[in-house]
Order: sequence, then structure tokens, then C-alpha cells
Amino acid sequence: MSEMTQREKYDLKRRLEELKSCKGRHTELISLYVPPSKQIFDVTAYLRNEYSQSQNIKSKTTMKNVLSAIESIMSRLKNFKQPPENGVIFFVGHKSVGADKTEMVAYVIEPPMPITTFLYRCDSLFYLDPLQAMMVEKEVYGLLLVDRRECTLGILKGNQISMLKYMTSQVPGKHGRGGQSQRRFERLTEIAAHEWFVKCGEEASEIFQQEENIKGILVGGPGPTKHYFVEEKYLHYEVQEKIIDTFDTGYTDEFGLRELVSNAADTMTNLKVSSEKKLMKRFLKEVTKTENSLAVYGELQVRKALEMGIVDTLLLSENLRRYRIKLVCSSCQYSEHRTVAEEDLEAFSPPKCSKCDSSAEMEIKEKIDLIDELSDFAENTSSKVEIISTGSEEGDSLYSAFNGIAGILRYSVDL
Ligand SMILES: [Zn+2]
Repeated sequence: MSEMTQREKYDLKRRLEELKSCKGRHTELISLYVPPSKQIFDVTAYLRNEYSQSQNIKSKTTMKNVLSAIESIMSRLKNFKQPPENGVIFFVGHKSVGADKTEMVAYVIEPPMPITTFLYRCDSLFYLDPLQAMMVEKEVYGLLLVDRRECTLGILKGNQISMLKYMTSQVPGKHGRGGQSQRRFERLTEIAAHEWFVKCGEEASEIFQQEENIKGILVGGPGPTKHYFVEEKYLHYEVQEKIIDTFDTGYTDEFGLRELVSNAADTMTNLKVSSEKKLMKRFLKEVTKTENSLAVYGELQVRKALEMGIVDTLLLSENLRRYRIKLVCSSCQYSEHRTVAEEDLEAFSPPKCSKCDSSAEMEIKEKIDLIDELSDFAENTSSKVEIISTGSEEGDSLYSAFNGIAGILRYSVDL
């Protein structure tokens, strides 16, 4: 599977939020997971059977709603000759919208990972567990254990640890045997140790450079050798740059790999947050500069900078919850864009056209999540986009102090 982009993760997260908020008045929300290996005609046959079963439902309204949901899925299935690469999920049903009203919703989702089990469920909530499980990060980390005797290389993918290489050294122990001059012995030992570290460094660099998408490297081992190995930069600089931290482990063999991962677990949970922190700190440092600041913030200014193509990194708060809407005058076709907060959308009344005498209100013709809209904009001007969570103080400040939209510029410009 190719890793999901931040954007795809964000979009899927938003879909999940919407789906989670859907409640049926009775058991009338249908979730259908179709694995890639399933034949579409099998699914249709299954649904036909459910359809006839559902005709026995006692409550008339519930029955009607369930039947229409099944019909809706069956008609959508006709668009598929076979399931997509990872399968497809349907969430269809009548959600409750206050008082006695319901509204039909239908989501068709192609998941980021293959669906493994066919599943049909009719409940008062959508069944989201399998989809949610796919959102768990499946990142790749290089594992390196080293001391003067052993070196083990491994890889962590998701929660799967595998050993890639195990090596042992001929470096003698630190204490000399009788007879030899202690000084000479120590010197020889240090040379042997250096050669051993060079060998470990080369092997590790080669192996980790071959692995695509390595997010970072965890280094472990007992005692101070691992620090020495890191400080003396025995790894290729590209690999060296990816070192996250060093961790104490009792072992340097295959068993040590598991120890290393478990000791690094906390650090890794904080990793995403800390990379966001780093970015935000860079931005905050720029904000405080009185001259040649590379910071820009607020929707208007950021848009201006994006139009000029000078944004290096666009920072968007995951909590923005705003939409970009396009208003069109039905009389003269004049159009304009507005940004509206999600909570104001329902009560939003479009203004009258400012270009013609028509007294009619303009109409909302398009509605797109602001994060999606700005990300597209940024990607078209080859700016990087970072969606920042509110999991840290710095991330929180983007949302609360900078209105959720900021950027770091390629060069300083007076906007
Ligand atoms: Zn008009």
C-alpha cells in the first residue's frame, strides 16, 4: 500500500466525523464493506436477499427506509464492474435530523487499505471500526543496535518488527591480557573498535538507504557505545539525519529489537506532534522578527502570498472547519467567493448581487472544505502543505492566535 498523504488522511478523518455523527431513529443505517476479491454479482445477490428479509420489518417507516437504502446501494453498485483495488464501502441510510425528520445520506468510500472481510450491517449507527483501524499510522522505522561486540539491524513497519542483519565483531574486551603493554593493547583495541563501527555504519547505511519511506531511525544498545557511534557519525549523512534518538536496551541481538521498539514507543507517539512543533517554532520565530520576516498569517495575506507563488510551507490547522463557497448571480452570472465557518453555514444567507440590479439573492454554487481548497492552491504553486493538529501548545496557537492559516515564505516580501 502506498502511504496516505496528509490531505487524504485529513479528508478521510472528516468523512469519519460526519459518519460518526449520523444517527438513525431505528436500526436503519446500512454499512456494507466489499473486499476487492468479492464479485459484484455476489454482493447484489446478497443484497437482494436482505431486501426480501427486510420486508418483514414490523415498523412501516423503518422498513421503507431500510428498503430504500438497499435500493440505493444496489443502484450504486451498477457503477462497478468489479470492486476497486482496496474494495469499497457503502454507508447509506436515513439519518435523524431533529424532530420527526430524517434525511437520506449515502457515502461511497474507497479505503486506503484493502478490506479483508465482507460485511453487511444494519444498525442505528454506521459501523466504522474496520475503517477507523485503517487510519492507524503504518510508518516505517529503521532499527539499529550496536555495542563493541554485536550489531543488529532491523525494521519496524506498523507494529511488525523484522531483523535484517546480525553481525559480530572481533574487538577484544577493554581489559588487556597479561604480557602485552597495556597502552599498546588499548591502542589496538581502539583501532579495532573504530573499524568495527565503520563496518556497522556502512552496512546500516546501505540497508536503510534501500528501504523506501523510512521515517526515522532508532538507535539502541547498552552503555555509552551507541552515543559514541551516533556522535562520531559512522552513518552516511542522509541516514544519520534520520536518527530520532538513542535508547537503552539490555541486548544488541534480535531480542534487543523488540526492547528498542518498546522503549521508543512514547517518543514515537510524540513524533508527529514534535515534527509539527518544530515547524510551528520555525514559524513563530519568523513572526517575532521585525525585519525580513518569512512569516505570513491570516487567510487574506496567505492567499496573497500563494497567488505570488512565494509560500514555502503552508500551515493549516486541522481544526479550521471552514468552507470556501462560490456565489453566483442567477441574473448576470457574476460570481464571487466567500469563506464561511461550518457553524454559520446553515444560517448563511447569500447577499444580493453587487453587479446588476437584480434583487434576487446570489446562489451557493460550490462548497469546498477550506483546507482542501487552500491545499490545492498551494500544491499548484509547489508549496508544501502541513496540516497541523492541536496536539501541542504550538499547534494550538496556530488555531487560536493565527486563525488557523499561516505560512512560511520562500523569501521576505512586504505584502
Ligand atoms: Zn447579478
